[in-house]
Amino acid sequence: MTPSKPEKLIRLSKSCLSTAEKQAVMGVLDREFLGMGVEVQQFEQALSEFFGRPAVCVTNGTAAVHLALQACGIGQGDEVLVPSLTYVASFQAISATGAKPVACDILRETCNLDWRDAEHRLTQRTKAIMPVHYAGGVGDLDGIYAFANRHGLRVIEDAAHAFGTKHMGKRVGGFGDVACFSFDGIKNITSGEGGCVVTDDALVLSKIRDARLLGVEKDTEKRYMGQRSWEFDVTAQGWRYHMSNIMAAIGLEQLKRFSDMSFTRQRLARRYDELLRGHSRIHTLSMDYDAVVPHIYVVCISAMRDRNILQQQLMAQGIQTGIHYQPNHVLSLYRDPQALPLPVTEAVFPELLTLPLHADLTEQDVDTICMQLKAQLT
Ligand SMILES: *Cc1c(COP(=O)(O)O)cnc(C)c1O
Repeated sequence: MTPSKPEKLIRLSKSCLSTAEKQAVMGVLDREFLGMGVEVQQFEQALSEFFGRPAVCVTNGTAAVHLALQACGIGQGDEVLVPSLTYVASFQAISATGAKPVACDILRETCNLDWRDAEHRLTQRTKAIMPVHYAGGVGDLDGIYAFANRHGLRVIEDAAHAFGTKHMGKRVGGFGDVACFSFDGIKNITSGEGGCVVTDDALVLSKIRDARLLGVEKDTEKRYMGQRSWEFDVTAQGWRYHMSNIMAAIGLEQLKRFSDMSFTRQRLARRYDELLRGHSRIHTLSMDYDAVVPHIYVVCISAMRDRNILQQQLMAQGIQTGIHYQPNHVLSLYRDPQALPLPVTEAVFPELLTLPLHADLTEQDVDTICMQLKAQLT
């Protein structure tokens, strides 16, 4: 007997939109002011209230990281410590400034940056460290800040996965040096594409506000009044990185729904933990889902013979899976033959498998996924 085709596909991730977002976009289209104006200002205001500190919106998370680094004065000849196990966006944002991303190893239990490993990679040129809040967890963030303080490094947090996560009772972005978020289609909240930088550093904020509008000084205030600058000065390299009203309108509605959506993500991750913990070959990340709002749900599978085949078998059951991430130190652009080895990253990578997680997934879906995964591992 040939197995029947599963009737629905359980997607790895997806945008989760309600009629509110659709109506908000229609409102912007009706007003015929699509660029950066009052909706962006309102979204920044709402985000600033959410974080308890100023937020500047940009066109995506990669741009947020790029501008944060540039505003901290990082560029040609500088080095930035960053885990190899991250999306290539973190590396590209660093190399876009002219600086060199220095690939670091991770902690096995959380896949977050290991500052003790980073310490061995310090040089005279090291200017910053970029912890990546893998899957939504922050790992030993206090240890990373203490390490950065000892060595006079800026801390640029790649918090693309961690929108809403709390650390010691405080929201990521609400404390520390500089945090960068992504609102791409599948992140914890979306504005279509989009991102923001959150910091208390007034100089960094003002540099980013100008740099996102091609360096046109004080253009942000003008645009929030429905105007723009006709005569101006430019003193630094800028980029076309501002957010549009269409994006901000989506983001504003998503932010209103965030408490529901984040609760769903947390509930689903707890369900996964419950069903998978204790399995002899499946290892879950060490996360407290009362504090962490998970962006992805990752497991490590020991004695994995062929991950491709496992993924194909799950797909045949209607379950889409992913791999977060192929390490960056193996990429042609970032390969460094002189670099110290990355033993944990190299041991963990072949074991990684990301299971579906998004705000429209149900507990029943999670039950099905876990049952099918375990069945494939016997
Ligand atoms: C999504 C993501 C980014 C970049 O965000 P974009 O909005 O896609 O540019 C950066 N770092 C990590 C770890 C991400 O997952």
